[in-house]
Amino acid sequence: MVSLEASGVTVAFGGNRALDGVGITARQGHVTGLIGPNGAGKSTLFDVICGLRRPSSGRVLLDGHDVTRLGPARRARHGLARTFQRLELFGRLSVRDNLLVAAELGPERRRAAGAVTEILTRLGLTEMADSPADTLSTGAGRLVEVGRALAVRPRFLLLDEPAAGQDGAETERFAALLRSLADEGTAVLLVEHDMTLVMSVCDQVHVLDLGKIIAVGPPAEVRCDDAVLAAYLGDL
Ligand code: ADP
Ligand code: MG
Repeated sequence: MVSLEASGVTVAFGGNRALDGVGITARQGHVTGLIGPNGAGKSTLFDVICGLRRPSSGRVLLDGHDVTRLGPARRARHGLARTFQRLELFGRLSVRDNLLVAAELGPERRRAAGAVTEILTRLGLTEMADSPADTLSTGAGRLVEVGRALAVRPRFLLLDEPAAGQDGAETERFAALLRSLADEGTAVLLVEHDMTLVMSVCDQVHVLDLGKIIAVGPPAEVRCDDAVLAAYLGDL
């Protein structure tokens, strides 16, 4: 079943069409990749999907419900959560408190502390739980962002370059986490530059270039697609 669907999405910044009739789908139980060169429009599409930017045309559906006119908070109540490409953590709060702030807004607010402890374990952040967020490495900081998104028990999870700054071992562990989230029924939409991660973990990949989708398919097909190779993946 298609659970997240954006169609015909157009966004212009002045004369620059950042997105031009973009469609994308993500299924429950799948990790869906969204790749493309810098400036392709990936983060702008995330903004549109989560309600932070209104497109000049296009629709966003969550489980068949048209949420195009809803703000970010209402969409979050439909089970949508995202991380940001730039870290948006509360730097002076501990890792645990960063997660608690999110958990207290979500469906598990009555057992927020317990839920946070589980997420810390799952992400391998327990040892850092009491450290201020701004003392973490970039890779660990991104995991905290992912943890905050998980704290609201999302059914649709949008991740914007979550593995940036991670080392090889962290990325491998992260890949396993993404698979387990999908196996639990989450629809994961992943923007990521680490092609090894994308190709190993995604069921389906959408390729965005200059505001248009130029290819969709399983990783093995997309990496051989002529338009994709021409756009930027020549070294795959
Ligand atoms: P990506 O995430 O794929 O790197 P973005 O969605 O950030 O791409 O950007 C797509 C295009 O839109 C780029 O040309 C970028 O310069 C432009 N853009 C993004 N955000 C803004 C903004 N707030 N104002 C003006 N132009 C923007
Ligand atoms: Mg981006």
